[in-house]
Amino acid sequence: MRLTKKVFTDLTIFMLLLGVVVGITFPFFLVLLNVPRNLIFRLSFFLACVAAGMLLAGLNIALARRTVGTRIRLLSRKMKHVEGILADMGGDSCARCTPDHCSISVDSEDELGESAESFNRLIQTLSEVLQDQSDLQRLSEMLTAHLELDTLADETLRSLIRLTGSSGGAILVEGGGELSVCASLAIQNPQALDKNPLIVQAVRQRERYMIQFPEGIALNGLIADFSPRELILEPLIYKQVLLGVLMLASSAPFAIKATERLRSYGPILAMAFHNAITHQQMQRLAALDSLTGIYNRRFGFNRIQEELSRAVRTNTALSLIMLDIDHFKVINDTYGHLVGDKIILSIVRTISQAVREGDVLIRYGGEEFLCVLPGAGQYDANLVAERIRIMISDTVVRNEEQEIRVTVSLGVASCPNDRIADVQQLVSFADDALYSAKNAGRNCVVCA
Ligand code: GH3
Ligand code: MG
Ligand code: MG
Repeated sequence: MRLTKKVFTDLTIFMLLLGVVVGITFPFFLVLLNVPRNLIFRLSFFLACVAAGMLLAGLNIALARRTVGTRIRLLSRKMKHVEGILADMGGDSCARCTPDHCSISVDSEDELGESAESFNRLIQTLSEVLQDQSDLQRLSEMLTAHLELDTLADETLRSLIRLTGSSGGAILVEGGGELSVCASLAIQNPQALDKNPLIVQAVRQRERYMIQFPEGIALNGLIADFSPRELILEPLIYKQVLLGVLMLASSAPFAIKATERLRSYGPILAMAFHNAITHQQMQRLAALDSLTGIYNRRFGFNRIQEELSRAVRTNTALSLIMLDIDHFKVINDTYGHLVGDKIILSIVRTISQAVREGDVLIRYGGEEFLCVLPGAGQYDANLVAERIRIMISDTVVRNEEQEIRVTVSLGVASCPNDRIADVQQLVSFADDALYSAKNAGRNCVVCA
């Protein structure tokens, strides 16, 4: 039954009415106690009883306001605080709505206590949801900020280790039917991970694989800087294509929340890795020659530029060998273009074996190649060029019953050289030397 729009005002009216009723009926109870009627049935006595009843009602109201009202006001204040945070979502909203800031103390075991407990649970859930949302937002921002596969893998691994409470892990990416490690943290010898039976199993299963290890048991083939208790292997799949495997290891069992969180990140992680892998493939396609897989002319020039700048900066030597197959037209005319291509491939393989790691091989033209030798002066470059020449002339390319041998002519240009100031001059010097080698009868090396 409602009298006004305010519960406490209704309660006040009811209490006062009760006070009046009690005041009026009280004298009649005194009759039952044999109090003389002349003392009871007097207006002043009735008025005094009514006043006492109303005073009691007033005290009751004050007590109710103090015990119940204060708790309800606190609940209302906290709700307003949370409402303000929700209205102003974003930024550090989850930090401002932690249980410490928003929950209320439960000091009653009745309905008021229950509502306080429900409110606190609500705040706890809300705080977790806000935290999850903020983590997801930060992860998405990071994923969209990186397109280079290696940096993406590094940053992703760091973020996921933090978000799942892991102690270490690795990200392996599939390429050409093989897995290779793109990033790893706190894992010893990560390069061996692609052969690890657990990872092979996860790839075969194409779904999450979680393994728990009893305390003190070392993992076969997986040596971490800590002792793992639990391992998650999560394949990264985009449109049913396996992109790689994410491995997270923890020195304590994973929280259920952490594993659920990781599952919810799956689609955005797969999308980001798909983009980075596609980007890498595009870059490779743009940079490499399709027949031989070595740098094409355009990207090769950039590499020479980089190496020359580094040589000037560090005041070290650098040499360039330009190489051209001798009488290649005749080879093509005699055996056909497909055999010609086979010979080009064989020559690239031979040059790769003759040079050292760090040297850069470029397909400069159809059957012309450049070989950049950082750190090599003219003497060393001449030796390398001679080695290439001899190895090629000793190589036999078989085509059915035929055995084909080719020779090459080589021109060498080296820095530092007062007459060589830039890449164009360096290439031009090597070209001139090659021209001289052709003129000198071919199958020889000439230094500029
Ligand atoms: P030289 O000794 O003076 O170098 O004589 P050459 O016949 O080798 O002359 P040149 O270096 O000008 O040769 C260019 C020939 O190389 C023309 C072309 O038929 C062949 N060629 C260029 N690119 C390719 C290729 O990708 N595949 C094949 N099979 N042949 C190519
Ligand atoms: Mg040529
Ligand atoms: Mg030629």
